[in-house]
Amino acid sequence: MRPELSIVIPVYNEEDVLPLLADRLRPVADGLDATYEVITVDDGSTDASPVVLQRLLREWPQLRVVRLRANAGHQAAISAGLASARGAYVVTLDADLQDPPEVIPEMLARARSQGVDVVYGVRSDRSTDSPFKRASARAFYRVIRLLSGTGAQVDAGDYRLMSRATVDAINALPEHHRVLRFVVPALGFPSDSVPYRRDERAAGRSKYPLTAMIRLSLDSVTGFSTAPLRAATWLGLLGGAAAFALLAYALVASAAGQALPGWTSTVVAVAGVGAVQLLCLGVLGEYVGRMYAHLQARPTYFVAYDSLTGPVTAADEP
Ligand code: UDP
Ligand code: MG
Repeated sequence: MRPELSIVIPVYNEEDVLPLLADRLRPVADGLDATYEVITVDDGSTDASPVVLQRLLREWPQLRVVRLRANAGHQAAISAGLASARGAYVVTLDADLQDPPEVIPEMLARARSQGVDVVYGVRSDRSTDSPFKRASARAFYRVIRLLSGTGAQVDAGDYRLMSRATVDAINALPEHHRVLRFVVPALGFPSDSVPYRRDERAAGRSKYPLTAMIRLSLDSVTGFSTAPLRAATWLGLLGGAAAFALLAYALVASAAGQALPGWTSTVVAVAGVGAVQLLCLGVLGEYVGRMYAHLQARPTYFVAYDSLTGPVTAADEP
């Protein structure tokens, strides 16, 4: 039987968090006026998370475990969960209890009573995040909003409820490296939002190092806008104009017979132009990389096991 609600949770090396998560999520889920399934997507964990999940599986009938063959990343893990979710509504949330499960009934009630397809969880209070994370997040959402032109919610992460129609639309997208928090608003389904307080991680450490944050930002920008390509052109033009001005100055100065410290101007020109070229190449590389990923058409994740159907064997694979 299809459950009314699927709760999708990406899990990467969360052995300490999982029992806490189960303890807090289960009463909330059992108290819902809806049938549900909880899909934990084990994103190739290398700690005891799979063992803990198997143990939880035995005592929690609504729990499902989908295991990916290798670490595919937060967004890909959520995508895998969305692809296996069966519910009429789907909620996605983090495993570390930063997204309090107690908000789920409110999200479901909003979706039903307002008849909207998406209910965003919006972080009303980020005081538990580090000042750096807060400042970078603020800049991040502003820039993406500006570039993408989508009505992306500021401070909405990946805690949200989506209707079946929304999830089907996401599953049908061929886009690689998609950043769901910007893809979902771009789909344009009617939406509402519920404020919540983002808590501290319940246990363990963040799986989002600075490099992963930068990758997410680049995917967000290149996924929605070619403005950086145009900016590269402008930068190239400005750099070129500056180099020409420098050249004109050097010619005039040498014609006037003034001794030139030629070394300085040469170095400045070479360095300046080189810097601009490198920057432009980098921007081009971003887009070429995306096209490359598309052309390869390689799935961003591989399911190894689904507790609902058992191991995925060669015969199941297309
Ligand atoms: N996560 C994942 N794969 C990864 C990294 C993270 O599935 O490669 C999961 C992680 O287990 C957690 C969620 O994504 O449930 C958010 O990660 P985290 O809490 O480390 O990010 P932060 O809250 O620090 O931004
Ligand atoms: Mg977290």
